[in-house]
Amino acid sequence: MIHFVGAGPGGADLITVRGANLLAEADIVIYAGSLVNPALLEYCKEGCEIHNSASMTLEEVIEVMEAGEAEGKMCVRLHTGDPSLYGAHREQMDELDKLGIAYDVVPGVSSFSGAAAAVCAEYTLPQISQSLIITRMEGRTAVPDGEKLAAMASHGCSMVLFLSTSLLEAAQEELVAGGYSPDTPAAIVYKATWPDQAVYHCTVGTLAQTAKENNVTKTALMLVGDFLSGPIERSKLYDPSFTHEFRTASE
Ligand code: SAH
Repeated sequence: MIHFVGAGPGGADLITVRGANLLAEADIVIYAGSLVNPALLEYCKEGCEIHNSASMTLEEVIEVMEAGEAEGKMCVRLHTGDPSLYGAHREQMDELDKLGIAYDVVPGVSSFSGAAAAVCAEYTLPQISQSLIITRMEGRTAVPDGEKLAAMASHGCSMVLFLSTSLLEAAQEELVAGGYSPDTPAAIVYKATWPDQAVYHCTVGTLAQTAKENNVTKTALMLVGDFLSGPIERSKLYDPSFTHEFRTASE
């Protein structure tokens, strides 16, 4: 059995309890060394066979899984954040299907949640935005036509850009072309939840310059939208004059 496990965004204590238990039981662990905090490997038992997938091909990863399976070993494939976002675990599952090897998936805390926590922000504020777009700037990996950054920006809602740190000149142009004003609040969150996490508040118009000034070239998320601005109107949920399923208005 192969368990795809979300490692969480960085902080070694941000893996789920289920994920940590599986790591402790695993005979083989294949971890994405470019982004997974190696401190997580301390959960592994003595003698656990550990592979860093950063330098491996898909074929090599599958070979390790197949060999382990043949010997009745339990294998954890540790992916950064939550595997369902830019995780590339689908192609592995497709190969395992062909080989008839069973697998399951344990979710993880994604870095977009880690980044919101780093700036103590809420993406979905009633008067500001009720949607979050998770996307990326087109680079070596193509983005489908209907999802080009300017098209996504036209919604003006809260947005998180993954995998785009080296493309910020182009990204900020697209964001403005799509409709965000250049002074829309933005933040660059570097290594959210890692011990060396850093947060740089800026605007859409200064994203590229801010990254450059602070030498941020990778492992960062760009947060964009008015949800990053000052105090907001309070919600109805905790308003004493508002009745809902769990509470009756006080007057
Ligand atoms: N599955 C992961 C994302 C993998 S794609 C998740 O759910 O978070 C890799 C990209 O995620 C990086 O290029 C960077 O943009 C972002 N990323 C991953 N971990 C991060 C972290 N701790 N802080 C900021 N960005 C991070």
